[in-house]
Amino acid sequence: MKKIQMVDLKGQYEHIKERVDSSILDVIENTAFINGPEVRSFQEELEAYLSVKHVIPCGNGTDALQIAMMGLGLQPGDEVITADFTFAATVEVIALLKLTPVLVDVEPDTFNIDPVAIKKAITSKTKAIVPVHLFGQPANMDAIMQIAEEHNLFIIEDNAQGIGSTYTFADGSSAKTGAIGHVGSTSFFPSKNLGCYGDGGAIFTNDDDLAHTIRGVVNHGMYKRYHHDVVGVNSRLDSIQAAVLRAKLPNLDNYNNARRTAAKKYTEAFAGIKNIITPSIKGKGCDKDINTSCNACDCHVFHQYTLRVLNTDRDALVKHLNDTGIPCGIYYPIPLHSQKAYQDSRYNEADFPVTNQLVKEVISLPMHTELDDEQIAFITTTIIDFVTK
Ligand SMILES: *Cc1c(COP(=O)(O)O)cnc(C)c1O
Repeated sequence: MKKIQMVDLKGQYEHIKERVDSSILDVIENTAFINGPEVRSFQEELEAYLSVKHVIPCGNGTDALQIAMMGLGLQPGDEVITADFTFAATVEVIALLKLTPVLVDVEPDTFNIDPVAIKKAITSKTKAIVPVHLFGQPANMDAIMQIAEEHNLFIIEDNAQGIGSTYTFADGSSAKTGAIGHVGSTSFFPSKNLGCYGDGGAIFTNDDDLAHTIRGVVNHGMYKRYHHDVVGVNSRLDSIQAAVLRAKLPNLDNYNNARRTAAKKYTEAFAGIKNIITPSIKGKGCDKDINTSCNACDCHVFHQYTLRVLNTDRDALVKHLNDTGIPCGIYYPIPLHSQKAYQDSRYNEADFPVTNQLVKEVISLPMHTELDDEQIAFITTTIIDFVTK
């Protein structure tokens, strides 16, 4: 059996090596290392793929979130609601800009921000909501966009884990995640579904004025050379990373399909095993969960395949898997509201029952485009033996 890896970037590279190598060499020959033609072409190709008017490449996914908030003109003291159960980058940039983060609980089946909890958290100071399409499954954008409209709030989609996912609305229309809210962000960190070979990120919007503002913010607040109209940052995607991303973008749907296929095999193997809750899929037209064959579904892109394990010493399971040569991850072990940096007297433990439970139960299994049947069988039997013994 091939060695099992959490993410197999080398295996993926082998399939696109020729194109990646030659386009990286071209960048070096042309020496347009920053904002070269590769960046421009990637931007246009991603705009077409997402059906979004503007893609603004930047340095990483954390910058993308921060720049989106700067572009919207959010001011110190404005409240921004986001999920308690996500990667810290989301709340970090809110705090960094001296906005007030308001963390709310998530749903137990999708792990995504709970619209009921959002509504309860809205005050007269609330200016924006940041839904995170966690683990690759879209948040409930029907409900979230409706709340935004009713309360006149901005929606900033953190699409770092969801790129390539399609959300279908209750009325049957659909859109790519990241292109639904007022502005969206993503990360091209190597292990993300569309990853480069270093750091990278992008901001998406259909709003021409906001796109113009953001193009200045990413470039020192300059709209005319050496005229600095607003306080900006320096955040750029370099041409070598754009060359890698251009090689990968045409394969993104295939990559996400390979992840879905692996997810389906995991879920089939765990069917009926007590103490294991497999991830559910909530997309419209999907059969709620992949047990019942949801292979046409393009809503969940499985950035992570995350189980909940019940009545089990989860940490002992992690150790057992690691000892057996199976890497795994705990995303995420601590609720953000309990992190030292983000504690706030406004929070009440009773407001986070789901996150407080999930942090004890979740375990993410190896998930990438190169997983084979032998590896999946070994991973699933090892876990089933442990939780049923
Ligand atoms: C990875 C990630 C980010 C940050 O992206 P970087 O490129 O690492 O800065 C933000 N939000 C979420 C949900 C992520 O998973």
